[in-house]
Amino acid sequence: MKRAFFALLAALFLPACLAHAQGKTDIYILGKDKGSVSSMQAGGVTLVDVRATAKKLGGSVELYAAAKQIKVAFPGMYAILSAPLREVIINAQTVSLPAEVVATGSKIYAPVQFFMLPQVQKALDRQISFEKGALVVEKNFTLAFVDKEQQKSYDRLRLFQKGNLSFTSEQKNKHTVEANFPGAVLKRNVSLRLKDDFVRSFSLTQRGKDVLLKVILGKNAKNWRLTQEKGELVFVAGSALPAPVSAVEEAPAEELDLDMSPSVFAEEDDTPVMRPAPQPVLKSGAPVIVEKRKIRIVIDPGHGGKDPGATRRGSSQEKTLNLTVSKHLYNYLKKQGFDVKLTRDNDTFVTLAGRSKMANEYKADLFVSVHTNAAKRAAANGFEVYFRSDKATDKEAAEVAAFENEALQYEEAHYSFVDMLLESMAKNEFMNESSKLAGHIRNYVYKEPGIGIAVRQNNAIRQANFYVLRGVKAPAVLVEMGYISSAKDRARLNNKAAQKRMGDGIGKGIVSYLKAEGKIK
Ligand SMILES: [Zn+2]
Repeated sequence: MKRAFFALLAALFLPACLAHAQGKTDIYILGKDKGSVSSMQAGGVTLVDVRATAKKLGGSVELYAAAKQIKVAFPGMYAILSAPLREVIINAQTVSLPAEVVATGSKIYAPVQFFMLPQVQKALDRQISFEKGALVVEKNFTLAFVDKEQQKSYDRLRLFQKGNLSFTSEQKNKHTVEANFPGAVLKRNVSLRLKDDFVRSFSLTQRGKDVLLKVILGKNAKNWRLTQEKGELVFVAGSALPAPVSAVEEAPAEELDLDMSPSVFAEEDDTPVMRPAPQPVLKSGAPVIVEKRKIRIVIDPGHGGKDPGATRRGSSQEKTLNLTVSKHLYNYLKKQGFDVKLTRDNDTFVTLAGRSKMANEYKADLFVSVHTNAAKRAAANGFEVYFRSDKATDKEAAEVAAFENEALQYEEAHYSFVDMLLESMAKNEFMNESSKLAGHIRNYVYKEPGIGIAVRQNNAIRQANFYVLRGVKAPAVLVEMGYISSAKDRARLNNKAAQKRMGDGIGKGIVSYLKAEGKIK
């Protein structure tokens, strides 16, 4: 863990710009040339000046040059990009880019793919693609002409469709076929004369909220059809039609060749700049294969080794109480058939970051950190479960977090901005899950007989910014079993039967949560 961390630090201070060739990337918005932004190539990836590009796209930008970070905001979304990482935070979630963000001087460059992320396209309600070295922003169309193919016995027209558009088609008279696409957005009107004996001409026109396809058939067009094939719409007319391409033999996405010759558009298009159609960016998701494996739970006995945690004369130290109860919890969950891992099973020091890293490497489905509380106020007592949030529920919760985070002082690692960033990637997506988990644990510790520590229904669940919970890619909670500073709690915390009950209570809460969420039967 440390080595990787220092590698990151080293990378941070290296001049990152040396290996990159400087260049320019043109930007086209709705067919208009909007000038260029500076760009560079790195390992086959084009990186563009984030600030300049975002501004051209109408975004707002906050640049923190010293921190090598930039925040980009578009309507309804924000993104934080940081050199030298490929992970971008978008609306509190992490998204990986194909290459690292690079900082040079006062500029921050990101792979051009950042601007093509579905989140950005959705925020701008535009289709954004990178075509022939230019960033192309277009109307969020759902239908576009792709190309025509004139064969011996038929003519074929290919149309791009986003999703499966519905349509109706009919033969209006001997020579005219019309199809209507309700709700479709046409990339641009097209009118083409083929002047052969199968298709004389055809047009695609946006009419309000519908798109109309009109085909004038030639004298040898005995038959025609309009069908969805290989994810495209295909119109064929001729003397002998080819067999439709079955959807089962669907071609891989890269074979959906949307490259078209600009001359195809020339007839009815007066915009000076011709650009090829973008790739269909919103592809249907690949089937999700659910891996059948046991639920993995990581139990984290707080503190350890040189870090004793909360102490009180004449009592066990926090690190020892945490380990004892964690082992009871471990045994309980093992008996239930789960895969369980302890972040430490003896009196050793483990860094806070190392604990969450361990959980992620183990691919934990759930993380529970076990602690014992302490307060200056002797009357403070009771059991509490915390989940992580940037905002503490109250001043006391913040103080508990501050105390537990003190373990940082024992760590030699120097916490720089890179580390801060890794923390800020904390998965807020798990906040909701974590709060539910906290609820189940609270209820079952409350129900478990023989513990003898107060579980208050109104404030036993609290949120605060615990370092150890940050960055865990799973629902994660921190349990404070009781107050070592309270004579009453302290007696129970040191009681062997109560310790086992505490482990069982937490374990039952975990099982109840997993059942309630449908993760186990
Ligand atoms: Zn602690």
